[in-house]
Amino acid sequence: MDAPANPAHGIFERFLRAGECREVLGCFEELCRELGLQGRGLQLYHGLKAALNYWSAKALWSKLDKKAGHKDYDQGTACASTKCLVVGAGPCGLRVAIELALLGAHVVLLEKRDSFSRNNVLHLWPFTIHDLRALGAKKFYGHFCTGTLDHISIRQLQLILLKVALLLGVEVHINVQFNGLIPPEGKAGWCALLQPSSSPLSHYEFDVLISAGGGKFVPEGFKRKEMRGKLAIGITTNFINRHSRAEVEVAEISGVARIYNQKFFQNLYNKTGIDLENIVYYKDDTHYFVMTAKKQSLLKKGVILQDKADIESLLSPENVDRDALLSYAKEAANFSTNYRLPQLEFALNHRGLPDVDMFDFTCMTRSENAALVREHNGARLLLGLVGDCLVEPFWPLGTGVARGFLAAFDAAWMVRRWAAGTPPLEVLAERESIYQHLSQTSPDNTNKNISQYSIDPATRYPNINLKAIKANQVQDLYLVGTVEVDHKRKSDNRLSTVVSRGAYEDLLSWCQASTAGYRGVEVNDFTTSWTSGLALCALIHRFRPDLDPIQTHQMMLDVAEQELGIQPVLSSIEMATMAEPDRLGLITYLSQFYEAFKTSSG
Ligand code: FAD
Repeated sequence: MDAPANPAHGIFERFLRAGECREVLGCFEELCRELGLQGRGLQLYHGLKAALNYWSAKALWSKLDKKAGHKDYDQGTACASTKCLVVGAGPCGLRVAIELALLGAHVVLLEKRDSFSRNNVLHLWPFTIHDLRALGAKKFYGHFCTGTLDHISIRQLQLILLKVALLLGVEVHINVQFNGLIPPEGKAGWCALLQPSSSPLSHYEFDVLISAGGGKFVPEGFKRKEMRGKLAIGITTNFINRHSRAEVEVAEISGVARIYNQKFFQNLYNKTGIDLENIVYYKDDTHYFVMTAKKQSLLKKGVILQDKADIESLLSPENVDRDALLSYAKEAANFSTNYRLPQLEFALNHRGLPDVDMFDFTCMTRSENAALVREHNGARLLLGLVGDCLVEPFWPLGTGVARGFLAAFDAAWMVRRWAAGTPPLEVLAERESIYQHLSQTSPDNTNKNISQYSIDPATRYPNINLKAIKANQVQDLYLVGTVEVDHKRKSDNRLSTVVSRGAYEDLLSWCQASTAGYRGVEVNDFTTSWTSGLALCALIHRFRPDLDPIQTHQMMLDVAEQELGIQPVLSSIEMATMAEPDRLGLITYLSQFYEAFKTSSG
């Protein structure tokens, strides 16, 4: 192909193809300099469009124009006077930044690192593929979801989204770490405490903060909830993909779980001593495997040196034989691909070491709330969480990025409502009503018409009740002054502010009366009384004895949803495996039964 005559076209083509975070930012800066463009936000986008109107660029503009023309964005004016700070350039931070830019907000995005190094591969639900295509993903990454592929490496996804964000005028700053909030003083607004403190962004005043800092980073004020399941040790590994014919021919494994293929796992165990709960294999830039391994087999194979009661010590580097871990991962990869991947050679991670890691999924956390408002000196700040810092995903299920994108859209919708002047408690109540659904979402129970998805929750969640939680139930999410939330406060205290005592007792009495007389059922609370599933069986049976006997939580949840239209709030796994099920979740869920059955209870 001839080099484009216009130097800006050449820079733009380099920008489209750039494969490293710094390279993308460098090309973009060069491009803006070359074109003499200085603006930001959609103004910058329009400047780029006008300056780069050759055929290749035009194809991308027409995609982005179509996206930007959606009614939810009000021609890019919906949030024109809103200033946002987004923390974290992971897929979810970038995705929400794009939506905020399309809404016309001034968006600054901070990332503490300066490279995108994760080879690991994310599973994409159909809507995420559709969404990324609509953002022009193929223009930036030609291999994007070709054929039946439905996954992408984390770093490629970040690269695509970074490019879109820049084109839409998001200001992206790398090597800047967010360390907290500085409350407004005098006439100034909310600012961020940054590292390095000399960053000019320290003076940026904003009225919305979206945190997308990943699982380990949650801003002050949000409470985390632990979801403790049974011991689950995840191993991820990446091998170099040379794209040879032999490699192309090997079939992917899009999730073999023990329950579905006992024989495979039995053979694996008999032949190698490796004992797994599940395994996934995706072919992308690398050959990527993620598996959940049983502790006994890790001990037997010398990967874990000593058995220990607490998982942190169990998986601590001193207690792990790295070479044995590499062999374990390689053997599992070899066996599960029928030894058809020739010369499996480890890809290297950002530290230059073989890309193999072991993670604990026994205890995953999620935030109790998706948003809160702070007010100080009359200045309000809306804070929202998206991605892993809202809900940590279980990687082998690959739900992270799909639910992360859903939450990114929900957060953008919240900012739109905020910018429209909706009373803060209403904004928060609506956000919490939507958040209740997130952990339950799957490609099957979200709207089928994915081409209609937008930031409007009604386009994505069937029968969503945006008023399920009322403004008076979220008063404790409105924090006035610099008072910090007491982290030691028991989560139970929250209950008294969310659900009034009387309503709590009424609901408990009703549950007790409705389940009385059923063998093995004794309802005393909204936690462990429901763990076995019998209480819920009894409740449904009491009012609908015509339904088939229900044996598992999942069936009950499904029946309740299909027959009674009751949306699940907790997943069957959460209800069955958590030592202490989520009280508020259960109360919300059981309240729906109360509403459905109350006329027949008299
Ligand atoms: P992340 O992708 O974690 O991004 C958060 C970003 O915020 C990071 O770039 C981080 O540097 C930045 N950041 C954090 N704190 C600050 C701060 N204070 N200031 C500025 N920047 C900050 N999921 C799977 O399904 N399969 C996998 O195999 C898999 N492997 C993973 C491996 C690793 C090492 C990690 C961390 C995550 C992995 N995940 C995996 C999870 C998956 O990456 C996420 O679900 C997905 O990327 C969406 O996450 P996110 O955007 O919310 O956060």
